[in-house]
Amino acid sequence: MRVLVVEDAPALATQLHAALVAADFAVDTAHDGEEALFLGQTEPYDAVVLDLGLPKLDGLSVLRRWRAEGHTMPVLILTARGGWTEKVDGLNAGADDYLGKPFATAELIARLKALIRRAHGHAGPRIVCGRLHIDTVAKEATIDGAAVRLTALEYNLLAYLAHHLGQPVSKTELTEHLYAQDFDRDSNTLEVIVARLRRKLGEGLIETIRGQGYRLGAPATQ
Ligand code: CA
Repeated sequence: MRVLVVEDAPALATQLHAALVAADFAVDTAHDGEEALFLGQTEPYDAVVLDLGLPKLDGLSVLRRWRAEGHTMPVLILTARGGWTEKVDGLNAGADDYLGKPFATAELIARLKALIRRAHGHAGPRIVCGRLHIDTVAKEATIDGAAVRLTALEYNLLAYLAHHLGQPVSKTELTEHLYAQDFDRDSNTLEVIVARLRRKLGEGLIETIRGQGYRLGAPATQ
């Protein structure tokens, strides 16, 4: 899952970037409102962490522009401690959640995961696909109850397909959501990871849909 962190305070931006990378997110960072606006308009983020007090363009204006233009990614705003008016303004501008500063990064990560799950219609932390169960909190996959050992990239790819259960996901989309902007992307790597996942999970779970990409689970009914 790929997230955008918008924070102008360098120390906090660095800390958030490190914490989210450690939690296996692909992370881009913006340090002012204009950069944030542009990245949110042009890159497909799974969620955004948005500070409100920003140089060049304030966070609320950025959020209003995104929503007016139809960008629907989940947005969690960072507000001043006790600033209830900021929270109300933020939610009314289209934010999905908020955290008051200072906050524990574990809480931020838990809230982001919940926002991403809900954005894909999964209320609970467990995604089930036949014999395969994925626990998005523990980041574990089991087949018939037996744990499957996965690398971080293998898990991230599987979790992305699981969040889009029954839908074909193209290699381009996978690449865009598994790697940060500055990462040297190579779509051959995806094929290698999928091959390894198939060996570990058994053939047939991850299907190749000709011309469309990969799909986990039976086709979604409309
Ligand atoms: Ca700020």
